[in-house]
Amino acid sequence: MRKLTENKLVLASHNKGKLVEIAKLLEPFGKSVISAGELEFDEPEETEDTFEGNARIKAHFAARASGLPALSDDSGLQVQALNNAPGVYSADWAETPSGRDFEMAMAKVWKALKNSKKTAPYKARFICVLCVAWPDGHDEIFRGTVAGNIVWPMRGKHGFGYDPIFQPHGLTQTFGEIDPAQKHTISHRADAFEKLTLECLSA
Ligand code: IMP
Repeated sequence: MRKLTENKLVLASHNKGKLVEIAKLLEPFGKSVISAGELEFDEPEETEDTFEGNARIKAHFAARASGLPALSDDSGLQVQALNNAPGVYSADWAETPSGRDFEMAMAKVWKALKNSKKTAPYKARFICVLCVAWPDGHDEIFRGTVAGNIVWPMRGKHGFGYDPIFQPHGLTQTFGEIDPAQKHTISHRADAFEKLTLECLSA
């Protein structure tokens, strides 16, 4: 496993919600971070059908373009009663001609669950795959998850994406209702990040 010894790295994402969470998780390690958006990199097409495949595409693209190590996040929501949809297509479910609309995407999830005729609890999990890629083509991959249920109606204004309909096991609030600091300790991103920290960032 290669260590991330460089002091500067690129966050290979244009997603504001993810960037905020990853920057917060990286804060204690004193790395200076710049995002692919700030560097005005294009967003590569995510052509793979796995989180790992798409995370690799994004991290290698940013590492090659910047000459720095790059960290990407490919993540999404898997709903058991929907055969793990929206999964790697979580962002696509929110696409509209005028940008992403997650209220619409959450309503689509709920409608699909109602149409499925399955009954609550609607088990779901968030998946996060982090990829660190270096300009020489090497990479390391870390997968994190958090399990919970889909609830309706949506609740809470914190977080991003599908947070208002995801209630993690053990809590009565959704990710949209809890304090972001609490989400950072239990989320799929925190889980993947803990693995990355142990393998790549600790001495
Ligand atoms: P991608 O990884 O850029 O393909 O997009 C992943 C999509 O999954 C995001 O746009 C969100 O819709 C969703 N997602 C990933 N992580 C979270 C999270 O922590 N909370 C809510 N939604 C998330």
